[in-house]
Amino acid sequence: MNPSRRVIVVGAGPVGLCLSLALAQAGVAVCLIEARDDENFLEQVPRAGTNHPATLEFLDRIGLYQKLEPRGIVAPLFHYWDRPEGKLVAEFDHAHLKDDTRFPYVLQCERIKIVEEALKLAKAHPNIDLRLSTAFTTFTQDADGVVAEVTNADGGSESIRGAYLVSGEGARSNVRKDLDIEFEGFTYADRTLNIEVAYDFRRHGYTERNYISDPDEWSNLFHWSGPPDRWRVHFPTREDESDEELRRPEVLQKKLQAFLPTGKEFEIVGSNVYTVHQRVAQKFRSGRAILAGDSAHVNSPIGAMGMNSGIHDAFNLAGKLVAIFRGEADDGVLDRYERQRRHVAIQHTQADTIRNKRVLAEKDPAVRRKNHEQLRRTSEDPKLARAFLLRSSLLDSIREADRIP
Ligand SMILES: Cc1cc2nc3c(=O)[nH]c(=O)nc-3n(C[C@H](O)[C@H](O)[C@H](O)COP(=O)(O)OP(=O)(O)OC[C@H]3O[C@@H](n4cnc5c(N)ncnc54)[C@H](O)[C@@H]3O)c2cc1C
Repeated sequence: MNPSRRVIVVGAGPVGLCLSLALAQAGVAVCLIEARDDENFLEQVPRAGTNHPATLEFLDRIGLYQKLEPRGIVAPLFHYWDRPEGKLVAEFDHAHLKDDTRFPYVLQCERIKIVEEALKLAKAHPNIDLRLSTAFTTFTQDADGVVAEVTNADGGSESIRGAYLVSGEGARSNVRKDLDIEFEGFTYADRTLNIEVAYDFRRHGYTERNYISDPDEWSNLFHWSGPPDRWRVHFPTREDESDEELRRPEVLQKKLQAFLPTGKEFEIVGSNVYTVHQRVAQKFRSGRAILAGDSAHVNSPIGAMGMNSGIHDAFNLAGKLVAIFRGEADDGVLDRYERQRRHVAIQHTQADTIRNKRVLAEKDPAVRRKNHEQLRRTSEDPKLARAFLLRSSLLDSIREADRIP
């Protein structure tokens, strides 16, 4: 493989894998470096899983959608609930997008299944040199290319040459740190408790995706096909509560009973606590090194935008790298990648996830009433509902980015 015609991608998360597959399928050679090995690749904490219509269009292009649909749940609806009132505020139906996308629904399919299926495709592709059990440490670059330093499966050091280096390493990106790029933004003081429950919440009127507002304890409730078939409930935590305290079985049961008093023990199949950041890298590109996905931006999961917008970075970048290798563009197009995707990260992903949390946690009764009234009116008016869904499904963000020169 000619190193001067190859892209080094660090991280086989959803972003690194989608980028590698899109490049490889367009004839560009990739060296994909992943610290995990075959044994522990699937032992990752539960994270993303709601795949928006715009993302499904991209996954379909690389043959991944067909693998994921049978493993997920097709969910055209989502709900806003008012927890103190116990009332459904608004129901949004992606059918309003039937003329905008071939996928007028979200696919509830967990990140772990996405990387599992994508890794199989990557292993089978002759243009991808997959290095599992290989940890990227640092890199250098000059006018001709990049050299990535890695610790390989045998524990030895190795230098890997390529034309470009893309960090799909996630939030703790070494590439970003090496380049001394500021990760601008803030971290929420409250963390989020995630409880996984084997219980069918639909019998109480909930749909597969629910956003539940409450001035004291907002929550999200999502359905996953598993196995095991289960629901994920998120609650905010207080700053003084420790992980151990929060995850005690009796504390989890109490939280769930307060949320939905069934009088019977819930079957809890997992729990974890996570910290939520809202940050965007000050630059997405420095010479031949490029950031994508969580290494470039992180956000609250309320609205399901992190993995989705990261996958959109991957496809935007793949198109530009392919054009460079085909001699159809010079590498100035990578500055356009930064302009487009940084704009989306700030004006869409950050703005919307910050607002989503504020609406769910709003304490002022008058503002809550106004928010709810607006959501109800929007959901009931087909024109307003379509506009709302174009934004929440990230289709708007892609159309807007396309207009950025
Ligand atoms: C609880 C929770 C729920 C979420 N829900 C949603 C949701 O519903 N929808 C949504 O869009 N987003 C959601 N997100 C966000 C989403 O999980 C991330 O945005 C997404 O996983 C980022 O993908 P990535 O490929 O950039 O990075 P990651 O998924 O973090 O993958 C990085 C990969 O790089 C590897 N790696 C890291 N460092 C190195 C190194 N030095 N050398 C080699 N390999 C390395 C890692 O092992 C990993 O495989 C959620 C996040 C959380 C915490």
